[in-house]
Amino acid sequence: MLNLSSSELLVSTIPDNCLSRTSQESTVRDLSLYDFQVDNNQVGEIAALRLQAEPRLPGVILMEEEQLSGMISRQRFLEYLSRPFGRELFLKRSLKTLYQFACTDFLVLRANTTVVEASSRALQRPTDIAYEPIVVEIEPNVYRLLDVHHLLVAQSQIHQLANNLLQELYLKLETAHKELELQASLDALTQVANRRKFDQYLAEKWFQMSKEQKPISIIMADIDCFKGYNDTYGHQAGDQCLKQVALTINQTAQMITKGNNENLVARYGGEEFAIVLPKKTQVEAVFIAEKIRSQVKSLDIINQGSYCSEIVTLSLGVATTLPELGGSIEKLISVADKALYQAKATGRDRVICS
Ligand code: GH3
Ligand code: MG
Ligand code: MG
Repeated sequence: MLNLSSSELLVSTIPDNCLSRTSQESTVRDLSLYDFQVDNNQVGEIAALRLQAEPRLPGVILMEEEQLSGMISRQRFLEYLSRPFGRELFLKRSLKTLYQFACTDFLVLRANTTVVEASSRALQRPTDIAYEPIVVEIEPNVYRLLDVHHLLVAQSQIHQLANNLLQELYLKLETAHKELELQASLDALTQVANRRKFDQYLAEKWFQMSKEQKPISIIMADIDCFKGYNDTYGHQAGDQCLKQVALTINQTAQMITKGNNENLVARYGGEEFAIVLPKKTQVEAVFIAEKIRSQVKSLDIINQGSYCSEIVTLSLGVATTLPELGGSIEKLISVADKALYQAKATGRDRVICS
């Protein structure tokens, strides 16, 4: 064992948590760097004492006339120091002389090199020196040592961080995509599905019901004498009325099937709404239509512009079919439309089933 006196012990500070600030932009300057830079005319004992006192110190940086001249890693230093009969000689010789035996290629990086770049450069070295410490130039002719193990731990943290970030971004993108899809399928004024969504949903359910051999029903509903409402109360009031009616139709269609959200209410155009009812028989569809009619009526929205009632009412046409693959969806709509026309023709405020 070497004897250490306190005056010989050169202290360098090694932060405990050297990686706490690691981010994707981290540079080697942010990592734990070891300060042990000595003139190469100094004897080997200087390095031996320091390496013994600081077990984490990865090596010694050699300077000649204040210029960088070499680096001996802890491993190489100890390799030569442990050779039989060589120790006394080794400790008394100048580091410059010793370096002739321990010399190897070493990597010098600027302090602003990113951790990612530094790890890649470190690992590109030949395997026998891939784990040699790296010399970091923190300012002109001022150097520090970087332990490759620290570098790789930081690199792996950054990798993890990038992974987490990617995952977060992916989730955000997915949410944004869903939101966008939802917006694209909603009618801006009434917030029920739009015509595009209605067409898509009806085709989808038609296909599904034809495979399951189950019926599908649709309801076409139109506000009675709505032109008169607009003419009497103005377009803005008309918009409010449309919103209220849409909300009521939607709530009724959802409530009636106890939260079975297979029913879809859409604004078909203007003051006309369409409701898709998968798996609903004609009797069930008529029941739902009748419920919608009475619920809208019970809103009790005065319409003095109406010539069929004193309040806002709906006329509804119902059509049901057992769909076949390749069958005509248009025909189902047209049948419901005809029933609606009949409801209008026979006095409005009623449900007609084809
Ligand atoms: P009917 O009982 O035969 O259906 O009569 P109606 O007056 O409801 O039908 P008509 O087709 O003559 O008029 C529909 C009215 O609906 C005319 C149009 O201004 C109004 N309308 C359509 N879309 C909107 C809208 O987005 N906002 C408002 N305020 N009115 C609308
Ligand atoms: Mg109308
Ligand atoms: Mg209409």
